[in-house]
Order: sequence, then structure tokens, then C-alpha cells
Amino acid sequence: MDSRLEAVRDTVLARNPGEKEFHQAVIEVFESLGPVHDRHPEFLEGAVLERLCEPERQIIFRVPWTDDAGRVHVNRGFRVEFNSALGPYKGGLRFHPSVYLGIVKFLGFEQIFKNALTGMPIGGGKGGSDFDPRGRSDAEIMRFCQSFMTELYRHIGEYTDVPAGDIGVGGREIGYLFGQYKRITNRYESGVLTGKGISWGGSLVRPEATGYGTVIFAQEMLKTRGQSFDGQRVVVSGSGNVAIHAIAKAQSLGATVVACSDSAGYIVDEAGIDVALLSQVKEVERGRLTDYAARRPGSNHVVGGSVWDVTGTVALPCATQNELDGDAAAKLVSNGLIAVAEGANMPSTRSAVSVFQEAGILFGPGKAANAGGVATSALEMQQNASRDSWSFEHTEQRLTEIMVGIHDRCAATADEYGAPGNYVVGANIGGFVKVADAMLAQGLI
Ligand code: NDP
Repeated sequence: MDSRLEAVRDTVLARNPGEKEFHQAVIEVFESLGPVHDRHPEFLEGAVLERLCEPERQIIFRVPWTDDAGRVHVNRGFRVEFNSALGPYKGGLRFHPSVYLGIVKFLGFEQIFKNALTGMPIGGGKGGSDFDPRGRSDAEIMRFCQSFMTELYRHIGEYTDVPAGDIGVGGREIGYLFGQYKRITNRYESGVLTGKGISWGGSLVRPEATGYGTVIFAQEMLKTRGQSFDGQRVVVSGSGNVAIHAIAKAQSLGATVVACSDSAGYIVDEAGIDVALLSQVKEVERGRLTDYAARRPGSNHVVGGSVWDVTGTVALPCATQNELDGDAAAKLVSNGLIAVAEGANMPSTRSAVSVFQEAGILFGPGKAANAGGVATSALEMQQNASRDSWSFEHTEQRLTEIMVGIHDRCAATADEYGAPGNYVVGANIGGFVKVADAMLAQGLI
């Protein structure tokens, strides 16, 4: 790391003790930024990095709710409004028992650069709760969401902060959150949340956008080496929103997706994952992958273990942070891997990224490869603002153009800064310079 940035890094780590995922995200970005500060001394003079690492606002709140038996539970809610240099704070809400401030801050920090890369007018933020939705009834989910919004509503708005979904937060939860916002404020403010249902202000393609976008980004990387998805053997982790649509898109481009996972294990299906069955089991029935294996002849469910043990030429990690470590990366490489695109946020550890880069594997970091979700959220905001709704084809076309644009910008920035083919450098510098310029232009705020 550039020695001028080391002191800033040390201060950031000391000011945010115990937030290891946030530290990891900060270090990864700082490692790319030395050459930018050679060209732009004004960023150092203006203490842009010090300001960027300190969220503009952090909100932590109590979320009390009752279960179906009438027992009272208390969870913790978070919203970190990280940076508004480019637009209103924008980023998802995650409901998962592992959520704490360090996770929300790593996600919010990454979101700043991701949102800048999309070219859309959106700042960075993230939120969520340590609430575990698994096994909860619809009524319990609704009561939790209503309680969460009863505090959150005073901090958000279409010109202030626009949350969306993430792990554990999909269309059902956005519906309950929107309903409560509307009830408290007495305003039908469509632009306050994205990921809404189609009949009440949502955008076509938003559910598919992150997974589709990840595959489009990977396809652009493959093209730089004269390859495509056609005939690739693909391994995917996760089996939620991002994973399901990544599988569908990869298969539509001629690949065979042979494996996917959840937190209990993984399935191998050599004939190619049956997306309709997977969607029925995971999205409609909210079941487990064992249910898929029971209904799909020829597939095999493995309890525990690592989906990265399955041989593939393309890997799409679409579950959660730090799910792919250095050993898994080395195994994938020795099994013939040629490309990785991160559908999840920071799924590869720093040592995994080093293994991929040293082996010359095409590697698309999450802040670039999974930006299609937030970009389509911004398209939803555009449709809400103009009281319009676009066709699936038109919206998918916009998504494709945005993803190709992000790919090309990352590649061109990496070339410009002397790191050809390094999409990590391209994404970090490309996102950072845009935000830093805007911050300096807006004065010391
Ligand atoms: P979902 O809740 O729909 O699915 C998450 C999937 O990941 C599930 O299969 C889940 O398994 C698995 N998973 C979650 N946590 C763990 C864990 N600790 N260990 C192992 N498996 C786990 O979430 P999404 O698909 O929306 O999100 C997946 C990733 O994509 C996240 O990193 C998210 O931040 C990122 N992302 C999502 C966007 C979106 O638009 N939704 C946008 C950009 C990035 P199980 O069911 O067993 O818990």
C-alpha cells in the first residue's frame, strides 16, 4: 500500500475497532488508490479519504415485535447513510442474524463506489437488522417490518435515502415496509423504496437485475479473451435472488450450471439446474435444496462441504461475504477455472483474490459485477419520478448497456493506471475519482 495512505488506513482501523469486514473493504480499496493520489494531490490536501471512511450519519435503533405466540422479541436495526456526494443514499436492507455495524458499514462503503460506477445519480448507504426471518410466518415478518419502519421512516425519503432489498429482504418485505411508510406519513411516495411490486410502482427486471447483470459483466470479461458463456461449466453459490437469476441468464447464454448452494449444503445437477424447479422450491415454497434434490432425478444433495469443490470453468459466488477463501480459490484454479464474477458483496477473501489474479483468472469484483441491481433500482426511481413504467425488453436493454458500460469503464481505468486486465483496480479507481471530485466540488461537508 502507498505509504501516504497507510496513516489514514491506521486511523480508520483504530477508530472502528472490531469491525473486521469494514476493515477488509477499506484496505482493499486503499490498496488500489496510490496512483490516483500521485495524479491528484488535491485529494490528499482535502482529506477526501478520511471523510469518505466516516459515514455522514449512522442510525442504530431498537426493533421490538411480537411472535405468533405473543412473545416479545427485540432486535437491533441499522441504517448507515454513508455518502451523498452523487445523490440520495441508496443501498439495500439485510435481515440476517450475522448483521452488526461492521457488516452494514462494509456494505455501505462498497456501495459508494458501486453506485458511482453505474453512472446514475445515487449516493451510498446500507442497513438492516440482526433479525432472522428463517422459519417466521408471514404475520411475524409483517410485524417485524412494521416495527422496523416505525423508526426508519423519519430518516428516509425519495430525495434523502432510498433503501431496497438484500439478503433476507425481497418483494414481500419491501411490501410490508412500504405499506407502513405510507400509513405513517400519509404519502404515496413511490420513490422512497425500490424493489416494489410491479402493480404498485416497481420496475420490471428489478428482481432479475443483479443476477443478470453479473452474468452480463462476466460475458464482457470473457469476450476480451475471445470466449463466451456458450459451453462453459458454471458453479454458483447461494440459491437466493441473485443466484437464481444468474443461473437462468448463464444457461440462456449456452452454459450449463452444474451446482448451487445454501447455508446447509449444495446440489450437483450435471444436466444443468432446472431453474423453474429451483425458483418454485426457494422463492415460492421458501423450502430447502434438499426439496429440489428430492424432486429432480439425477441431482445429488451434499450436506455441508463447499460448493467450490465442484469443478467448473466459471464461478459465480452469489451467497455472502468471505464465502470463498484462498484454499477454495486454489482448488478452483487447479480444476480449470477461467473466470469469476462476484454476484455477492465481497464473497472472495483477500487471499482468494490474490490467487485468482496471480493465476491470470478473469476476476470481476462485486462492486462492479453486481451493480446491475442498484442500477435497475435507479431505473425504478426514474420510472417513479416520471410516473411511467417501461417494458421488460426496454429495461433489460438499459441494464445491458449499463453493465457493458461499467465493464468498459473498469477496463479503461485499469489500462490508464497501468494495471491492464485488473478489474479490482479499475472499479476502485473509477468509482473513487468520481466521488472524490464531487466531494471537493461541494466544499467541506
Ligand atoms: P437472498 O436472501 O435471496 O439469498 C441469499 C443466499 O445466500 C441464500 O441461498 C442463503 O442460504 C445464502 N447465504 C446467506 N448467508 C449465508 C451464509 N452466512 N452462509 C452460507 N450461505 C448463506 O439474498 P440475495 O440473493 O439478495 O443476496 C446474495 C448476495 O448478493 C449478498 O451478498 C448481497 O449483498 C448481494 N447483492 C444482492 C443484491 C440484490 O439485488 N438482492 C444486489 C447486489 C448484491 P440460506 O437460504 O440457507 O440462508
